[in-house]
Order: sequence, then C-alpha cells, then structure tokens
Amino acid sequence: MDRTPSRLEDLEKRNVVVERMQKRGVELSDIADITLDLQHPYVDGLDHDTCLDHVERVVRKREVQHAILTGLEFDELAEKDLLSEPLLSIIKNDYSLYGIDEILALAIVNVYGTIGFTNFGYVDKKKMGIIKSLDEDGKKADKCHTFLDDIVGAIAAAAASSIAHRYG
Ligand code: MG
Repeated sequence: MDRTPSRLEDLEKRNVVVERMQKRGVELSDIADITLDLQHPYVDGLDHDTCLDHVERVVRKREVQHAILTGLEFDELAEKDLLSEPLLSIIKNDYSLYGIDEILALAIVNVYGTIGFTNFGYVDKKKMGIIKSLDEDGKKADKCHTFLDDIVGAIAAAAASSIAHRYG
C-alpha cells in the first residue's frame, strides 16, 4: 500500500504503534487473522493479505494511534505499579465493571461508523484469535492486558468494517 497519506494519517506514528504492539506480543498479522474470521462469510475469496492491508489502513489513522498509545501506556504503567490507587487495582485486576478500556477502543471503531460498533461487540464477546491468549496472559500477576485486548479487537473490527465498506 503506497498511496500518499491523507491529513488523517501519520506514517511515523504508525511505526511507533506497530512496534509498541509487537513489544506487547501482538503482530498486525494476528489482528488480520481476526479480521479474516469476521469478514470471510460476507466477502467471496477474501484472503489474509487483503485483511492485513485493511489493518494497515486502520493503524495509519491518527485517531486510532492516539487510542492505541493511551491504552498501551495504562497497561504498562499498571504492570510497573506506577498508577495510584484505586485505579491501579482496578486496571491490574481487569475489574469487569470498569469499562473504560472498551470506551477507549470505541474511539478506534468509531472511525468506521455503525458497522464498526457491531463488529467490535462480536469480537469482544467471542474473544477471537489472539484476544483469548491476551486475556489469559493478562491474568498473570506481572502482566496487564486490560486495554490491549480491546485495542486488538477494535482494530480487527475496524478493518472488517473497512472491508465491508469496500466490498459490501
Ligand atoms: Mg479489556
């Protein structure tokens, strides 16, 4: 994908967020797996490369990058015990009524309208692909994936919505 970036895109920060997610154990290809799972029943012959291309479009968007950077920061600060109480315990234990992790992720799917919200709800409930292992890993004492699992789900859902807009 080598078209000229629009005002809504930031290629330098794209590299930063991709690296930050890799450090947290997530590759764009893992996210494309979820997008493919979500969207293949609706698009004939949809392949992994096309999904990866749409994941790439999503992580180039400034709004998306800001949500990713914010969420990853909270997870990392929580792992290092650098947040104050009671927020530290809430985020570290992924308290189910917290909900701000999902709200932040909505900033990502919001870019693609209503279909993004529907896809995100589905991914979140099903814990598809790498989300399941992030969720389980996040339960370990030294790991916190409270924001990361929702960020990954939201990027996958946004890419699925981008595909739906293109081929729908
Ligand atoms: Mg979460």
